[in-house]
Amino acid sequence: MSNDPSLAIADPEMFALIQGETQRQFDKLRMIPSENYASRAVQEAMGSPLNNKYSEGYPRKRYYEGQQFVDPIEELAQSRIRSLFGVEHANVQPYSGSPANLAVLFAFCKAGEKIMGLGLPAGGHLTHGWSVSITGAYFDSKAYGVRRDDHRIDMDEVRKLAEEHKPKVIFCGGTAYPRLWDFAAFGELARSVGAILVADIAHISGLIAGGAHPSPVGHADVITSTTHKTLRGPRGGMIMTRKELAPAIDKAVFPGLQGGPHVSQMAALAVAAKEASDPSFKRYAAQVVANAKALAKALGDRGYSLVSGGTDNHLLLIDLTNKNITGKLGAKALDAAGIELNYNSVPFDPRKPFDPSGVRLGTPAITSRGLKEADMERVATWFDDAVQSAGADAKLASIATEVQRFLKDYPAPGIAL
Ligand SMILES: *Cc1c(COP(=O)(O)O)cnc(C)c1O
Repeated sequence: MSNDPSLAIADPEMFALIQGETQRQFDKLRMIPSENYASRAVQEAMGSPLNNKYSEGYPRKRYYEGQQFVDPIEELAQSRIRSLFGVEHANVQPYSGSPANLAVLFAFCKAGEKIMGLGLPAGGHLTHGWSVSITGAYFDSKAYGVRRDDHRIDMDEVRKLAEEHKPKVIFCGGTAYPRLWDFAAFGELARSVGAILVADIAHISGLIAGGAHPSPVGHADVITSTTHKTLRGPRGGMIMTRKELAPAIDKAVFPGLQGGPHVSQMAALAVAAKEASDPSFKRYAAQVVANAKALAKALGDRGYSLVSGGTDNHLLLIDLTNKNITGKLGAKALDAAGIELNYNSVPFDPRKPFDPSGVRLGTPAITSRGLKEADMERVATWFDDAVQSAGADAKLASIATEVQRFLKDYPAPGIAL
């Protein structure tokens, strides 16, 4: 036996678990809107000896020797992200989306100062100041919401709150908001109250890179994102900004919040940025949105109640109340039927976050497998059958078998079975 055996030999128990998860990702309609399939090339960059390197600091300003290859790796990631999004500066070191947001707050706010963001129940992210997050515990957060009648962000409310509280930082962007963000309106408002505007594009960065959602560049002072959602890169985060704010951001990431950057992650991000600059990625981004709209129509036709009445992006939020099932039971039935999504609060949800009224689903991953608008009818039929069949395990299992059979013809990026 080699003294450096493969995983299958070194740890068969873990190998089997990873094999199981890989197969599961192939066999299911993966519709959690924050998930995707990273390519084989991205995964190869992640699973390399770059894992072994310590590189505290930034290119040409490191605290450790041996950076002959790491410096050009990080610079390539930075320059590809700059040109993909059209920004002046990119920090590619944040370990993920949450630390990226915390770094931005550390750059511009002192503990106890005021910040604003879309509230979690209205589709915002925890890290935009929600109470249970460090960003809500250490900063004085005033959340804005959506309107009760159309579930859209109420810019009049945002303006009123911003003028009253004069926050240091305003976040826009969310995790369960199915509509376009009016970055221009937020930019104008932030300037008028002297706040730093942070556009968190974690969910939609791939749509923006592919031209399927308007860009916050030119409106937001700082743009944060994850790199593994619609952008289809490695697990990770990044922060983009203007030259003038770059030193504050860089200092906040390192040494402010983090130690050594994950070099493999930066390399894989560079690979993903190259993929996203290919013309085929524009078609991908447009198809993600076209599929989401087709699915919204097909589910609406089946009597499902869509938050805000539909979608402009990659995700749908559905209130299941009129189907007499909770979000959690709906999500469990769907998972048993081979359709993977998450239960989610809907705006003004009378139920608790751990047992809410809705489910959230999206099309980034299934579009990566090549599903098109015409397939959304079929997906909606399975979806509806599964919700109607909650509790009927044999029926759910038979839907899962149909789904699995259907997906055999759709190769999944990064998955070789
Ligand atoms: C996913 C997400 C994050 C957090 O990213 P993690 O990588 O899970 O830490 C931050 N903001 C928004 C809007 C997100 O959707």
